[in-house]
Amino acid sequence: MLTSINHIGIAVKDLEASKARYSLLFGVEKFHEETVETQKVQIASFSLNGILIELTAAISDDSPIANFINKRGEGIHHIAFTSDSISDDLSKAKENGIKLINEYPVPGAHDMHIAFLHPGSTGGVLMEFCQPQQSNK
Ligand code: ZN
Repeated sequence: MLTSINHIGIAVKDLEASKARYSLLFGVEKFHEETVETQKVQIASFSLNGILIELTAAISDDSPIANFINKRGEGIHHIAFTSDSISDDLSKAKENGIKLINEYPVPGAHDMHIAFLHPGSTGGVLMEFCQPQQSNK
């Protein structure tokens, strides 16, 4: 079951410039920073009342984030929903005709299992399901 919004992914060109902007706006003093090899990105995130804002920059030209920025420019990239059983939620989505980018969960930031749904079958919204590893079934 999908239980809440986990994070909002924002595609940025320059992580440092973006961090400076969010620091100013939200008074963020410390970002969680991490490289996610499966997505070829570097992230800097902070929590707003339990919902993460995840600034995401490409670390290689073939990163999905590099493709996104080339096509559409910087901006909101995806919305991630917390799942208490990502495999079940992926199966359910697939049964209902949703095209999946990740048929199986892959390692994501914050030690979570993540999987993306294809925006072509979700009305143009790139959705991610994510499950913290400690709550694996
Ligand atoms: Zn994400």
